Amino acid sequence: MTNSALFDTFARAPLEFVKGEGAWLYTRTGEAYLDFAAGIAVNSLGHAHPHLVAALTGQAGRLWHVSNLYHVEGQRIAAERLTGATFADRVFFTNSGAEALECAIKTARRHQHVHGSPERYRIITFEGAFHGRTLATIAAGGQKKYLEGFGPAVEGFDQVPLGDIDAVSRAVGPQTAAILIEPVQGEGGIREVPAAFMQELRRICDEHGLLLILDEVQSGAGRTGRFFAHEWSGVSPDIMAIAKGIGGGFPVGACLATEEVAAAMTPGVHGTTFGGNPLAMAVVNAVLDILLADGFLDEVARKGLLFRQGLASVCDEFPQLFSEVRGRGLLLGLKCVFENTRVNAAFRDEKLLVVPAGENVLRILPPLNVSDDEIRIGLDRIRAAARTLTGAANG
Ligand SMILES: *Cc1c(COP(=O)(O)O)cnc(C)c1O
Repeated sequence: MTNSALFDTFARAPLEFVKGEGAWLYTRTGEAYLDFAAGIAVNSLGHAHPHLVAALTGQAGRLWHVSNLYHVEGQRIAAERLTGATFADRVFFTNSGAEALECAIKTARRHQHVHGSPERYRIITFEGAFHGRTLATIAAGGQKKYLEGFGPAVEGFDQVPLGDIDAVSRAVGPQTAAILIEPVQGEGGIREVPAAFMQELRRICDEHGLLLILDEVQSGAGRTGRFFAHEWSGVSPDIMAIAKGIGGGFPVGACLATEEVAAAMTPGVHGTTFGGNPLAMAVVNAVLDILLADGFLDEVARKGLLFRQGLASVCDEFPQLFSEVRGRGLLLGLKCVFENTRVNAAFRDEKLLVVPAGENVLRILPPLNVSDDEIRIGLDRIRAAARTLTGAANG
């Protein structure tokens, strides 16, 4: 399992899976792993969900791709459903989260441009943020380790500490176009932005004619127990980037915006070859069938509380290993006392998959349709790994 002919860009675990079903992944030799990584919050309905498989295979037999030279029925339907369930009036479909952010950034700049403020192109972003790996999104994220060696960073991002409202106010200038924030930082370590801070950002945006852009690529699509995480704060954005869970494992993203803001994006100013193709749209619509069904998101919230309580007891039992539970719904984090990569490996030895994040946190991201039983199995495996780790620490 070496990376022979591949770019060596990923530090992969020594594992390869050939099959998945629900919350479970299987190796070639049939070993079963409990998948609470969910492809980094992507497999929102687990693996091989029958409704998604039927939607994709049905569409595959009819029509794969036509480009955006023509109307695509699935796009129209998915956009109507997304706007019907959110603040937004318009949608642009992409293939990934980073592309959704690119569209969001371009839309914000373009909106200021057509409203007589072409000098307003700068965007305020936050320390610890992650917005993707394109040139603009690494500049937006502002992390040195992702910017180094790639030439001058794309101009126009001003980064301030998360939670520092005075720093935000000070960063607003005559060239500021927008504020960009994740309602819950995912890669950053499941850092939830308090509702009061979100409300302050909205106030600053309204006061200065700035747009509020939310990156809900990871926190959205039902992950926190609401359709989108910002709903917990009562704050509405002007633009929102989504991806990951909305495709349930099919590569798809979208940029959502209000009518007023999207009006700046006229024919020819932005585009994509693959974005919103019929295969992707068939899957998005199938995912929406389930996420938006009565009671589904309430169940995510309930299971999130159940899991959180279990993790809180794990923290009480093993204070030498875990210091804190973070997050909401099924976007959960366990802050580790020693290296999260070592704890991650111990979980893996117990056949439990999770995802390391910033601030020495392990992200726990089960499929949203995980069962109570599977949550209990996950907690048992975390305890087993913790016993091994404390045994190793003591001996
Ligand atoms: C994953 C992620 C992205 C980038 O998405 P890609 O599909 O990898 O381009 C952007 N923002 C957030 C918050 C993410 O979690």
